[in-house]
Amino acid sequence: MQLLEERIRKDGVVREGNVLKVDSFLNHQIDVSLFQEIGREFLRRYDACSINKILTIEASGIGIACITAQYFQVPVVFAKKNKTSNLSADVYRGRVHSFTHNRDYEIVVGRDFLLPSDRLLILDDFLANGSALEGLLEVVDQSGASVAGAGIVIEKGFQEGGAKIRARGIRVESLAIIDSMDEKNGTICFRTTS
Ligand code: 5GP
Repeated sequence: MQLLEERIRKDGVVREGNVLKVDSFLNHQIDVSLFQEIGREFLRRYDACSINKILTIEASGIGIACITAQYFQVPVVFAKKNKTSNLSADVYRGRVHSFTHNRDYEIVVGRDFLLPSDRLLILDDFLANGSALEGLLEVVDQSGASVAGAGIVIEKGFQEGGAKIRARGIRVESLAIIDSMDEKNGTICFRTTS
């Protein structure tokens, strides 16, 4: 998605440890007009997939998911990061290793909000090593819902997540795929996609 790539080039900051900071439009301040274009693009790619619900993970997936949901006209469910030792039987659970914070945490989704009849679009801001998506898929598996695919705003194609998730047979649509980035000179190279 050209508009997004241009914005990443203009405002993205490459940090050490393969981290891309996009706080000025995605992760802290939110460019709502850009999010609308992102939502339209996800609809273009996943229209006709009978999606009835969008699933994401708190916190940074929620904004993207809500604006995208307006185009699909479906509700959003977000997995919560479990901060207590919540032993409730009313939730599905998954484990996620945080790439940016280098720690593990549990995610939970209330059983009432994921049903076997659901056809899901899973959305997230970044795809790096794939742990967030794997945790969400763990939750979805327990619910019996089906997955039409995943929509990612920025995939770091030089990390293993995209290949790992696609190898499971899951469709992954990433609006910008970064093939390489260099913290020393700030250059970002995008994969050419059709
Ligand atoms: P994964 O689970 O695929 O390794 O990482 C995806 C999650 O980590 C995303 O939900 C995102 O919040 C965070 N993340 C991974 N890489 C980056 C990055 O380069 N920049 C930012 N801002 N977040 C990232």
